Formats: sequence, structure tokens, C-alpha cells
Amino acid sequence: MDLGIRGKRALVCASSKGLGRGCAEALAAAGVDLVLNARGAEALEATAAAIRARHNVGVVAVVADITTEEGRARVLDAAGEVDILVTNAGGPPPGVWSDWTRDDFIRALDANMLTPIALMQAVLPGMMARGWGRVVNITSQSVKAPIAALGLSNSARAGLTGFVAGTSRQVAPHGVTINNLLPGIHDTDRAVSLDQGVVKAEGISMEEARARRAATIPTRRYGDPAHFGAACAFLCSQQAAFMVGQNVLLDGGATLATL
Ligand code: NAP
Repeated sequence: MDLGIRGKRALVCASSKGLGRGCAEALAAAGVDLVLNARGAEALEATAAAIRARHNVGVVAVVADITTEEGRARVLDAAGEVDILVTNAGGPPPGVWSDWTRDDFIRALDANMLTPIALMQAVLPGMMARGWGRVVNITSQSVKAPIAALGLSNSARAGLTGFVAGTSRQVAPHGVTINNLLPGIHDTDRAVSLDQGVVKAEGISMEEARARRAATIPTRRYGDPAHFGAACAFLCSQQAAFMVGQNVLLDGGATLATL
């Protein structure tokens, strides 16, 4: 299916690995030029080179911490006018509700709520002026069904979801859509670190931790970042123009809910 976005320009944050990389690859496959970002230069350059070689699109790589004001400024400066924004950053660590301090909450809010909001505030005016834009925020399954140990993530992402619910309706008249993609467990480094926490807490092997988690998912396996990326590219397509302010779960059926 031709997504109708060949030649558009996308900023994909936190995209050297995992779900962000999956989104970048799928957009590149649709002919979109990319601005990629991550903190680690080596993995970012390797990803940029691989995408350039495979898809023959323009790729600019910006090493920066997207959760800092200075990092965002450098990324936005390098990106210039973008048609597509995919927001993403690392997720907060798991823990126990009674241990989290004000500073822990501020860090989580900065990374997973205030950073995507600041990025949207920076690019939405240009998209609206040009009459076309797509924003996809990578959030989490935990927005629909809480994961108790990820309370910092639950809190920050709930705030972002509220912002998107209202703002998406305000920008839609200008040809700009904002939607959220909610990953359940996917096969990325983040999943490895979550499983390592289970290994430590329960004294079991990594294989056992993975098998136990996979058994809780109706598909009985972890998600594939490439499939996640394909869903993101669809949300950025011409055909998705009527999808506004939606929260799309990609969780293998793990969230037990009718709607
Ligand atoms: P991942 O495999 O660990 O990849 C994270 C990517 O983001 C890397 O490229 C990393 O590169 C970059 N990154 C992290 N922090 C950054 C920052 N401050 N500034 C710029 N780049 C940054 O993680 P993932 O699994 O793709 O997860 C992506 C998001 O989805 C996270 O917020 C996670 O909590 C959420 N999520 C994931 C799952 C899952 O199962 N994988 C499920 C639900 C929600 P550098 O480290 O070099 O910066």
C-alpha cells in the first residue's frame, strides 16, 4: 500500500534502537527523509547508515538527550521544518510507589510528558501553517491498564494522553493529526531490562522470565518492533487523515478489555 508520504520529512526521537528505530525504518521504507536522535553516537550512526543504505532516503543523525532543553533545541534546529513528528524517550525505571521522590516524578514527567509536549509545541505551528502534519507519540499499554511497578510511567503518560486528547481536536482543522501508539511488551532492550528486574526479584533465569511474560500475552510472544513501526507509518499516512486523538494499543491482546 502506498502511504502517500514519499518526500515528507520526519523527526523520529530516541530512534537508534527499539521501537523508535522500528518507526524510522518503516517511514524510510515509505520514502520519508529522516532526522534521527539518540544519546549514544555509535548506535545512532550505525542505524542512520543502515537506513540510508537500505532505503535511499536522506538521514540526519543528531546525538542529544531529547529530555533536556538544550538537547531538544539542537535536534529541532537540525530538523528544521518537519511534516511528521514521532516522540519517544526511554521509560522510567520500575519501583514501589512509597519510594518515589519528587525528583523521581520530575524526571519521569520531563522525559515522558513535558518533552513530547515541548516538541509538539515547537513543530505544530509550522505544520498548521502548511496545512499538513502527523504526530505519533509512543506511550504505553500502561495508559489503558496500569502496571503497578511502572507508576512513574503511568503518571507521566496519563498526563501526555490528556494533553493529546484536547490538542488533537484543536489542530485537526488544519490538516494535522496527533495520535498515540501504546506498546505492550516488545522485543527491545527495554524488555530485556524489565525482564532482568524480574530475574533479580524472583531468582529465576532470563528464559523463565521471558516465558512467564510471554504466557500472559494471547499471541504468546513479544511484539516485533518492525510491526510496531509499520503501524506508526500508517498513522503518518495520507489514509490515516481521519484518525484524530486515538490511543492505539499494540499489545498482542494482553490488555483484557472489551473497548
Ligand atoms: P529501547 O529499546 O531501550 O530503545 C530506546 C531508544 O531510545 C534508544 O535508541 C536510546 O538510545 C534512545 N533514548 C533513550 N533515552 C533517550 C533520551 N533521553 N534522548 C534521546 N534518545 C534516548 O526502548 P524501547 O523498548 O524502544 O522503548 C521505547 C519507549 O516505549 C520507552 O519509553 C518505553 O518505556 C516504551 N515502552 C516500551 C515497551 C516495550 O516492551 N519495549 C512497552 C511499553 C512501553 P540511547 O540510549 O543511546 O539514547
